[in-house]
Amino acid sequence: MLRNGYIGRLAPSPTGALHLGNVRTFMVAWLRARQAGGKVILRMEDLDHPKHKPGAEVQAIEDLRWLGFDWDEAFTQSERKGLYAEALARLRAQGLAYPCVCSRSDIEAVQSAPHEGEQLRYPGTCRDRFGSWAEASAWKTSHCGKGGPATSPMPCWRFRTREGARVAFEDGFAGHYEMDVWETLGDFPLARDEEGAGYAIAVTVDDAAMGVTEVVRGDDLLPATPPQILLYQALGLPVPVFFHVPLVVGPDGRRLAKRHGDTRIASFCEAGVSPERLIGFLARSLGLIENERPIGLRSLIGLLDPARIPRGPLVYQGLT
Ligand code: GLU
Repeated sequence: MLRNGYIGRLAPSPTGALHLGNVRTFMVAWLRARQAGGKVILRMEDLDHPKHKPGAEVQAIEDLRWLGFDWDEAFTQSERKGLYAEALARLRAQGLAYPCVCSRSDIEAVQSAPHEGEQLRYPGTCRDRFGSWAEASAWKTSHCGKGGPATSPMPCWRFRTREGARVAFEDGFAGHYEMDVWETLGDFPLARDEEGAGYAIAVTVDDAAMGVTEVVRGDDLLPATPPQILLYQALGLPVPVFFHVPLVVGPDGRRLAKRHGDTRIASFCEAGVSPERLIGFLARSLGLIENERPIGLRSLIGLLDPARIPRGPLVYQGLT
């Protein structure tokens, strides 16, 4: 695929309705692409997920169109599983992926209690344990009887992280970021699907295949980036640059969710709020305009200046 010029993407997950927080990040992604005269890809990240909501894909597209977003190409991850299987096969051929049957509580039991928000390091229990997915799966089935801990009946694929693996990169917004992946995560999960169709593999394979030059997303995914970079390297794929923006949080400082009231785009629409009003509110919060006023998304092209995006999260207390 064409690799000259900026290619960005919007990557909604249909695990719930699109809300103000998603849209704020998508505005940054869309404006960075359009300001660079680049392309925007819409990628529906609909791989099986316990929180998948039927119909959420269609609603997300409707919401984005209503708000004024457009895109040059669209893809759906569930139609691309062959590519993820190929990537998994390449990792396995290098000895870099193995099946693991550990549950979260198994992992917790072998390490001291992690502090809240701290990532759980995988101690490598299953590194050299199973010869195949089928073997791991049979083990899991025979050990996850009724009444046992509520764990997934499926094994997961893990990446065999090299001891001492460190990753450092310059984020376009968050600045220098580094992680000792070996110390922090150990062998990180790749997919809970026999064929490799899971977030870590899919996002990496897709961003490379679609020629994405810059990944703009919420800064909750900053810690997911170093393991993704290890995956790009293992698969011999070009690493894009990253631009992680702060999230929208509620007055309690927690990421925007149902408990903070209904911030679904569809609900604003039903309540008679215009798309220009929502865009104007978010544009003001991103430093695109001085004073809040209704404005169309397209009129903001050229106004996004990373230096004016507030460094911290937006605390949402209702539309002003
Ligand atoms: N689909 C993911 C989400 O909505 C975003 C993944 C990414 O941007 O890498 O959380």
